[in-house]
Amino acid sequence: MSIKETLTNINDSLPKEVTLVAVSKTKPIETIMEAYEAGQRVFGENKIQEMAQKWEQLPKDIEWHMIGHVQRNKVKYMAEFVSLIHGVDSLRLLVEIDKQAKKHKRVIPCLLQMHIAEESTKFGLDEQELHEMISSETFAQLEHVQIKGLMGMATLTEDQNQIRKEFAHLKFIFDKVQDQLSNISVLSMGMSGDYSIAIKEGSTMVRIGSSIFGARNYN
Ligand SMILES: *Cc1c(COP(=O)(O)O)cnc(C)c1O
Repeated sequence: MSIKETLTNINDSLPKEVTLVAVSKTKPIETIMEAYEAGQRVFGENKIQEMAQKWEQLPKDIEWHMIGHVQRNKVKYMAEFVSLIHGVDSLRLLVEIDKQAKKHKRVIPCLLQMHIAEESTKFGLDEQELHEMISSETFAQLEHVQIKGLMGMATLTEDQNQIRKEFAHLKFIFDKVQDQLSNISVLSMGMSGDYSIAIKEGSTMVRIGSSIFGARNYN
């Protein structure tokens, strides 16, 4: 199937209010252009420099989402153009994003990444850390970042019930934190293998790579 046909199928399966982030990490410009020509405008990358190079070469109406782990010393390479940073998991990182956004006289939309999986390797905040972060004085003073919602990744497992429980837990936190973070609307959860479960559990944004573009081109 062509990328265009695959995108059509995926879009037809998504509720209207769910945003599709096409995860194009490791994929070349030509492949991204194929998806672009099929109408896709939101792309996700997990390496800042790779995303910056693609941004330079590709049409400027693409929305670039940083979905990977962010190192503070690299925020400056994406501050000018990034549309949404999904993986914010510390106040120090958020302070750096705020500082770099200010240099470009803009406000950068961000999601706070929650740790919901069983694996200890996946990044993210626990509920206590989330609470401490958003209650802090420093957080209250940030003017160049806007928290749009939460992001999370489920455990890589065949156990659908466990995945469902983890997504349900993230949705629970999302609903609960509305009291403190007004106007949050984005719940980024679900990838190729688990996005239908994520949608049933309340996802508003899915990050899909291999189901659109095939296996990744690591070299
Ligand atoms: C790579 C990646 C995805 C997409 O994964 P697929 O299984 O290829 O759909 C989604 N989210 C994050 C954070 C990723 O790093």
